[in-house]
Amino acid sequence: MSRTIFHVDMDAFYASVEQREHPEYRGKPVIVGADPRNGEGRGVVAACSYEARKFGIHSALPISRAFRLCPNGTYLRPDRKKYVKVSHQIRAIFYSYSERVEPLSIDEAFLDMSQRGNSCDTALEIAQSLKDTISDRHGLTASVGIAPNKFVAKIASDLKKPDGLVLVKSEEVQSFLDPLPISRLWGVGPKTEARLTELGVHTILQLRHLELSLLIERFGKLGDHLWRLSNGVDDRPVVQSREPKSIGHENTFSEDVLDREILDQTLRRLTLSVCERLSKLSLSARTVTLKLRYSDFTTITRQVTIRDPICGSDDVFDVAHRLLKKFRDPRQKIRLIGVSVSSLESVGSSRQITLF
Ligand SMILES: [Mg+2]
Repeated sequence: MSRTIFHVDMDAFYASVEQREHPEYRGKPVIVGADPRNGEGRGVVAACSYEARKFGIHSALPISRAFRLCPNGTYLRPDRKKYVKVSHQIRAIFYSYSERVEPLSIDEAFLDMSQRGNSCDTALEIAQSLKDTISDRHGLTASVGIAPNKFVAKIASDLKKPDGLVLVKSEEVQSFLDPLPISRLWGVGPKTEARLTELGVHTILQLRHLELSLLIERFGKLGDHLWRLSNGVDDRPVVQSREPKSIGHENTFSEDVLDREILDQTLRRLTLSVCERLSKLSLSARTVTLKLRYSDFTTITRQVTIRDPICGSDDVFDVAHRLLKKFRDPRQKIRLIGVSVSSLESVGSSRQITLF
């Protein structure tokens, strides 16, 4: 059965976020990375705007070299916290389009769109809608590659950057791959590339014309893998990121506690920690569980499941606090208090988007 896989990759992500937030940087070379220290800096470029790429700058380039290429560029230190936050907002959009999302890094992911059928027109419309949603809501552009497998989708998303949209039909996969250099294949680093070049192989076409037995003899398992990829065969599934089943925090007091105020404050603090983790994973919860251990070590857990998922710390605290008021025996001292959330859902997954 044929699959429809999207590879979505944000364009010059860190630099684009900076340009969005600082209109004065727009249209200019922006380089995010280590401090260039007037050309004496150590470290590398983390990301750069398309304007900076015109100077020959790219990510992983030594920052001192970047500075020599473009001394008048805008050099910024990365603000990871800010990028992670935006990344989660974008990811929530991915989840509103597909339940099967495999994030690859802070700014790219595979989406399995097979459940929407495999008509090319539909796939293109969905991809355009996804790109528009990201751009309308967040003022950022993404490039999308659509293909019957992950490997081809990832190459496709890179071809028309920025703001690209490339679809490779099943019957076009081979002609799409054949002219590409072997360095495009997953698993071909500089060493393997050099060894293949020795065999006179520069393109994917040349690689797949080699005997499979020769490839296996020379490269072992990797040879088999490369032969399959060069023939457009890649049946690796889109693997959803493993998400926790529950998130909880608990606190053991240094002295057993009877004071309601201290319990409330502790519960508030634990709830905050839980909700921070929820938000980092772009999750919301439907079940809240309170755990109490009394001085005599008897432990009770009480939980409640609500209809609509929550993720804000005020909401989660409200539910946990109600459990505390209802089930705590006020005559007994408490040794440990804990709160956890479960029945987790991706933020945005319950919102069904009707496209057509
Ligand atoms: Mg990117």
